[in-house]
Amino acid sequence: MSAPFSSSNPLPFLDLRASTSPLREELIEAVAGVIDSGRFLHGPATAAFEKELAESCGARYAVAVSNGLDALRLTLRAWVQMGLMKWGDEVLVAANTYIASVLAITDAGLTPVLIEPDEQSFNIDPGRIEGAITPRTRAIMEVHLYGLPCRHSEIREIARRHNLLIIEDNAQAIGATEQGVRTGAMGDAAAFSFYPTKNIGALGDAGAVTTDSEELAETVKALANYGSDRRYHNIYQGFNCRMDELQAAMLRVKLRHLDEETAARNEAAAAYTAHIENPLVKLPEVPQGRTHVWHQYVVRVEERERFRKFLADRGVPTDIHYAVPPHLQPCYAGAFPGPYPLTERLANEVVSLPIANLSPSLAKDISLIINQFS
Ligand SMILES: *Cc1c(COP(=O)(O)O)cnc(C)c1O
Repeated sequence: MSAPFSSSNPLPFLDLRASTSPLREELIEAVAGVIDSGRFLHGPATAAFEKELAESCGARYAVAVSNGLDALRLTLRAWVQMGLMKWGDEVLVAANTYIASVLAITDAGLTPVLIEPDEQSFNIDPGRIEGAITPRTRAIMEVHLYGLPCRHSEIREIARRHNLLIIEDNAQAIGATEQGVRTGAMGDAAAFSFYPTKNIGALGDAGAVTTDSEELAETVKALANYGSDRRYHNIYQGFNCRMDELQAAMLRVKLRHLDEETAARNEAAAAYTAHIENPLVKLPEVPQGRTHVWHQYVVRVEERERFRKFLADRGVPTDIHYAVPPHLQPCYAGAFPGPYPLTERLANEVVSLPIANLSPSLAKDISLIINQFS
């Protein structure tokens, strides 16, 4: 039987309607609740979402904010306000991350130090961390890229030895675990993004910070609200980075379906892993002791452009995460010493296959096409 898609009838890489339409009634009810409440900011939906998000990952506190970049930069700025780091201090981060991780560090007046990833996992290579630590190093940012947690237990040990804080960039890995601990509860703080394409997406922009530290939670909350700890009393020169009640109410609905979303992505990923057998295509690995939530299913192919065209000609769209690493972006021209040969090689070889809302049988159909690439 031939695949139910073709060059003239291609699959979508990502169709967000497929994530929202099954929840349409629940989402409408959530929105109606906000309309009827007359509370559009600082209301009960935001408070409930914060409580539920903290519970779902096992952190003590969650603070709902405007987006993932703000979650990262508010956390770092809060640590600056708390006296834990100061202007020019260094934060270690994987060189192959999405640029928002790095933007948050420079926005807070801190210095990103880019570390090459470990080739098997695409995440920061713990073996390269200690060599990059200087007297100004204050924190490690663990970016759980594509949905796979970093080697947190090892990184935690290094952080302990050198008295460093750990911030998770958990934009891509909500629900993933290492030895049973969920992302969001691993580091001293974690930043979530609910950008619409993430595993749990808002219907607009939204983000959150989780932490076990009451002081950090209070500081982030104040910074996100004009630096105000109570009405008309501003203890910091803050921002307006709040999550609104509509997004919070809809995210409560989405969060209730997190485990189904993760299970569906795992089934599609398992079908790819079982059926793709092509020596030209290197598959992602899930190391022992960790679970993956497959924000992206990323393979490596040396002749990437020919591979992408081969699939596109057969109705299979692909994407690249990310084609240009932060150190090669114009905004950071000359900012990082490098070289980062591994990061650049990965940027030239990674290909993301469709994964969201993909049935295992479609993943199998795509796999059989991939097996014909030579
Ligand atoms: C999406 C993303 C962000 C930024 O989140 P926004 O909500 O879009 O601001 C940060 N880091 C990573 C790794 C991301 O994937």
